[in-house]
Amino acid sequence: MSLRRALSFAASLLAVSAASAQDYDVVVRDARVVDGTGAPWFRADVAVRGDAVIAVGPSLGGEAERTIHARGRVLAPGFIDLHTHARRGIFEVPTADNYLLQGVTTLFDGQDGSSPLPLGEHLDSVAMLPPAVNFGSFVGHGAVREAVLGREDRAPTKQELDRMADLVRQAMREGAFGLSTGLFYVPGAFATTDEVVALARVAGAAGGIHVSHMRDEAAGVLDSVRETIAIGERGSLPTQITHHKIIGRAGWGRSAETLRLVEQARRRGVDVTIDQYPYTASSTSLAAALFPAWGLEGGPDEVSRRLADLAERQRLRAAVAGKIDAERGGGDPARIQIAACSFDGALVGRDLATVLRERGREPTVDEAAELVLEIVERGGATGIFHAIGEEDVERILASPFTMVASDGEVPVFGEGAPHPRSYGTFPRVLAVYVREKGLLTLEQAVQKMTSLPAARVGLADRGLVRPGMKADLVLLDPAIVRDHATFERPHAYAEGIVAVLVNGVPVVEDGRLTGARPGRVLRGPGARSPRP
Ligand SMILES: [Zn+2]
Repeated sequence: MSLRRALSFAASLLAVSAASAQDYDVVVRDARVVDGTGAPWFRADVAVRGDAVIAVGPSLGGEAERTIHARGRVLAPGFIDLHTHARRGIFEVPTADNYLLQGVTTLFDGQDGSSPLPLGEHLDSVAMLPPAVNFGSFVGHGAVREAVLGREDRAPTKQELDRMADLVRQAMREGAFGLSTGLFYVPGAFATTDEVVALARVAGAAGGIHVSHMRDEAAGVLDSVRETIAIGERGSLPTQITHHKIIGRAGWGRSAETLRLVEQARRRGVDVTIDQYPYTASSTSLAAALFPAWGLEGGPDEVSRRLADLAERQRLRAAVAGKIDAERGGGDPARIQIAACSFDGALVGRDLATVLRERGREPTVDEAAELVLEIVERGGATGIFHAIGEEDVERILASPFTMVASDGEVPVFGEGAPHPRSYGTFPRVLAVYVREKGLLTLEQAVQKMTSLPAARVGLADRGLVRPGMKADLVLLDPAIVRDHATFERPHAYAEGIVAVLVNGVPVVEDGRLTGARPGRVLRGPGARSPRP
């Protein structure tokens, strides 16, 4: 405890009631408070001492070490992002600039079935940084499966399943907030629903939830939603469809049906919810997006062997062409963009049709499939896939069961051509879907970014502006706030985030990063309260 904190703590013991002079570290004056509950904004001052909000009310008496004049701008709880890949960049950029400048104060990693194991050690190393944002994690089913079965396409034996359950149990004890699955990816794709249910039960018994990057977001999306619901229902735990979208033009509009399935499940008592990023393109590795699961079985050496075999290569090319045609490729190689590439920086930012033309080849789907095989052969690349319909984005976002999550990472500014969601997700919702389109009220949007995700993972002390809650706060200008990152120029910070506090410490002031790193590692229910 700093001397200042110690003194102010001592002062608080002496004070009979709150609001005597000098007893706030920070006070935000004259804010339009959007408190995270979804209730209409109200005008108030918000006072912070230590890491917590201690008073919320009009014209609070008392002095503060630091006064932030909101001048009628909006004060909200810091945004909570349940789906990130922050571990990719947090060690290089512990200030997570791209997230702070969106007003995001808590990041969750370990999604899509992928997490470090053992999780506890990883969380300790993040805590050592320390980061500017709070950081929590899920345990990944794919990681657990790979640790026991490698990348083999088979069911686990009874003993192997027991070992997987032990790994999940251990990760929950070490602080995971639940089990994530990536049934779309290898090796998650090799798992049956029964296997996932067995492991979800273990996470649920420790108080965790299940979050799924579903098996199929294209032609099989309805079955995948049913499977995600079944995992929650049979595994007796809350379940969530993450980054919900409908991939491939043929299925656009189907979100009306997926939302109906979610609603029906909720009506019969299954706790199922959704998160989403507000873009019409997705991003993942080219191989994961465009190879069939059998093409990736066995790991990199097996993939190389397959590509070197003429007959297998032909089969693979046909499968990849099919996916470019009907799924992630949106039927046009121009709709697939390279986001990052380890072996050829010149590819970054270009789409497959452009690359083909530059090489004197026809920009056909078949040529693009061959190009994808060549890229994977040489070490692979990350792609951006423009194959989502705006109508579905809006319908899903408007659902009361949907929260906002970026699926982004912590980029090194200027490096590669990442999906703009890493820089723009939260301000984009406020700018496009609140201010411009009026799809949501400001209060609804903030709720989807704060109390909804907090409640989802049982964070009882974050996600609301209320005395006693942790002082994660964002002050923003609702008339200005917007994203600037685009697919062409992704490295652009958002605008309109005036000030951000994490655990009571200013990390953004006057729109600029302070460099402070007051973030904490958050640990889930299994670590907080040991259960029998
Ligand atoms: Zn995902």
